[in-house]
Amino acid sequence: MLGHEFAGTVARAGRGVKAFSDGDRVVSETAAEVCGDCLLCRTGRYNLCPKRKGFGYGIDGAMASYVKVPARCLHRIPDTLPFEVACLAEPHAVAYNAMCVNSTIRPGDAVIVLGPGPIGLLCARMAVLAGADPVIVVGLSSDAARLETATRLGATRVVNAERENVEDVVRGLSALGGDLVCDASGASRPLDLALRLARPDGQVTKVGWSPDLVAVDINPLVQKNLRLQGSFSHSFPTWERVIHLLDRRLTRPDEIVGLTSPLDGWREAFEAMHAGRVIKSVLIP
Ligand SMILES: [Zn+2]
Repeated sequence: MLGHEFAGTVARAGRGVKAFSDGDRVVSETAAEVCGDCLLCRTGRYNLCPKRKGFGYGIDGAMASYVKVPARCLHRIPDTLPFEVACLAEPHAVAYNAMCVNSTIRPGDAVIVLGPGPIGLLCARMAVLAGADPVIVVGLSSDAARLETATRLGATRVVNAERENVEDVVRGLSALGGDLVCDASGASRPLDLALRLARPDGQVTKVGWSPDLVAVDINPLVQKNLRLQGSFSHSFPTWERVIHLLDRRLTRPDEIVGLTSPLDGWREAFEAMHAGRVIKSVLIP
């Protein structure tokens, strides 16, 4: 059963669960199974547990009327935060972890985001909230609608890489290059461009990934003294922070949800996302 981005009420608390009661409004993290005993689990970095299994991948997810969730995954949400917004916490947590935990952004930093998919757009928004300027979002011709969304989310400049030279645009706005380049493209190839766009002593954070293997010129990493950082998933403090940002609507969730549908409208909900007509669809079981 798919579904790892979800919110709801506690239908029945398990025996022995003390922290939550029936009727509590909650969102759930995604690490459905972790070992609880390794170094990562014992230091609060359970998202990196080698035994981790996520909802919708080996464990039944939430595209159903009910889902079984360990209490340790849950966060209470305020009454002012509707479920249709709260269910966006997961991708926001991915973006927050990439930009605000695994990367350093200071006010006025030049930040470049490669790939305006849902995660790339949320990463751009996190950069804006962290005070970055300029924030440059790079996509392709097929991303036209998503690049418009990037502008509404506060990006200073969007670039269609099929029409403009990305390096020229970046150096026109920040002569040395980006303080931080976030590769959210969901492919391996753009790492090459990311390493070229970063300024000397800058950072490259890779949050998008795919199984494709490509040859990349890794030399700028050494020559420019870059910090290359991967970013995977998220953990408890990031969720608490993201719930606050969503509750205050600081992440502009209205720009992200383009379609709300009952569960049996799942096909149209998925197709609208695949076609790029909406950034995120929300299913209400
Ligand atoms: Zn573990």
